[in-house]
Amino acid sequence: MKISRYFRDQYQQVLDREPEMLTKARIRILAQAILAFIFLFSLMFIYSAVANWGTLIAVRLGIFLLLFISAFVLFLFKQPWTLAGHLFLACFTILIWSGALLSRQGVTLVTVQYTLLIITGGYYILGARWGLIYSLANLFPVIVLVITEYLFDYHFPTQQITTKPYAFVFVLVFNFVLLVFIHYHFFRAFRKTNKQEQLLKADLQAALAEAQELAAAKTNFLSTMSHELRTPLNAVIGMTNILAFENKQPEQKENLDILRFSAENLMAIINDILDFNKMDAGQIQLEKNDFKLDDLLKNVYGAFRSKAASKNVDFFYLPDPELLSLTVTGDQGRLTQILFNLVENALKYTPAGYVRLQARVGSKTQDQVRILFRVEDSGIGIPQDRQENIFDPFVQVLTKTSRQYHGTGLGLTIVSRLVALHGDVLTFASEEGQGTTFSFGLSFPIVHHKILPNAVSAPSEKTIDTLRVLIAEDNAINVLVLKKILKNWNILPDVAFNGQEAVEACQQKEYDVVLMDINMPVMDGFEAAKLIKEATPPGKMPVRIMAVTASVSAADEQLGGHRYLDDYMLKPFNPELLKEKLLILCQP
Ligand code: ADP
Repeated sequence: MKISRYFRDQYQQVLDREPEMLTKARIRILAQAILAFIFLFSLMFIYSAVANWGTLIAVRLGIFLLLFISAFVLFLFKQPWTLAGHLFLACFTILIWSGALLSRQGVTLVTVQYTLLIITGGYYILGARWGLIYSLANLFPVIVLVITEYLFDYHFPTQQITTKPYAFVFVLVFNFVLLVFIHYHFFRAFRKTNKQEQLLKADLQAALAEAQELAAAKTNFLSTMSHELRTPLNAVIGMTNILAFENKQPEQKENLDILRFSAENLMAIINDILDFNKMDAGQIQLEKNDFKLDDLLKNVYGAFRSKAASKNVDFFYLPDPELLSLTVTGDQGRLTQILFNLVENALKYTPAGYVRLQARVGSKTQDQVRILFRVEDSGIGIPQDRQENIFDPFVQVLTKTSRQYHGTGLGLTIVSRLVALHGDVLTFASEEGQGTTFSFGLSFPIVHHKILPNAVSAPSEKTIDTLRVLIAEDNAINVLVLKKILKNWNILPDVAFNGQEAVEACQQKEYDVVLMDINMPVMDGFEAAKLIKEATPPGKMPVRIMAVTASVSAADEQLGGHRYLDDYMLKPFNPELLKEKLLILCQP
């Protein structure tokens, strides 16, 4: 009892070592096949002695019996179990070779059965490679015997064994049962594995759906939070701008500069998170507008010139003469964002020395141009061990350097993804203490017709203080900020606290421009803009409507090119930019 339990445990251990269903089935087939042949050969061995079949047969049966028992011992106690598989199949091979050569019947049905068994067992137990080797090894004697005996009628001189007919029939039936058993067993395991796989697939799909839901919830949460943060921060930046405008005392100006710097920094972080989030969700699409490349680069240069000067860093923009006349179609906003980020980083990580912004024509055809952009600095460089995952947001976020320089660690990730969105790769070379160079190339279709000169620098005919402005905004602080900004230009605006009120105000009074918030109670800005524009009598110039929103996504997706909106500004805005836009918008 104890011994059988011991063997069963041992057998279980061999099974437990293999995690896969199909491998377990192969182990079971091997064990049961060995046991079946131990049983068959024990019976035949005893019977050969009793029935007096002759010494040669008894010795042959005895040897194979011992070999099968050894295979079983090997199976239970020696790893890997495939060793026992080889011994078992090797026994079979010897059995077939010796049987074929010694038996007086030559190639019998039993030989064919053994061959089939070894082919089946070879593949099922040891896999494709060994299956093929054992199959060929055992087909060979059968083929040789068939050719010599049946085609040439030649009989090997060593034929000495004649199997008794009843033993022959018994072995025949036994082998058939075994063949059926092996196939049945394997296919049952195969079906089970299939079922298990389907269950796993279903589990996996459920887990995937859950992960996607969680990711969507995370994206949503971050977008909402960022948006919520932007609104009060708008007010902070707006009020700081007003205070800076109104206070001329130097010590207050310094404090206000710090306040504005921090608030703008915070806003940049929030924008980074929003952008990153949108990229993660695959929501960013490139826009197409016509612009002059040189203007864009000059704007980037202009935006950072004073910052570079205040740090005593030499800042160069090296225009390519070929580029000066080029107007192209592309996403002006995203290209500016890419260059802004790279130049900002270059200045941030260069305590002294130089920063160089370069753009040159790489290749050009009649309709297409490839521009190679390069931002080079002589700053602190990026340590070798950080270079590998510099674009990976979760690895390099909040390292010592980024904390020391007030970074979010998301900028480069966003830039590299934006470049990738253009179908290109952002590359860099950097040496610690020597400097860093970021480069990328973008292709643009060339615009052959002339576009208007940069709208922002258009000369203004109407003066700002003559503008009649309506503010449509539900947030009292934002109203206050806007009113204060407008007051500096001697504009006294009217206020509507929702879209409905704005529509009514426009019916009662004439305005040059409506500064329209988008998210408002009662009626949103889109609906109000539509009603206001549609109510304009024919032949009369419609009131200009400028959307003013804190929602970046709304800006991207709906505002640009909206039918009833003439322009839009993102909150918080630079008062000077608002002024320029108002002047352009209100030109007759
Ligand atoms: P951060 O907001 O921290 O600047 P970025 O994603 O823009 O985030 O940059 C990631 C990190 O790459 C930075 O923290 C900095 O260590 C390094 N880095 C980026 N640009 C430069 C550069 N021009 N010179 C040196 N290090 C840089």
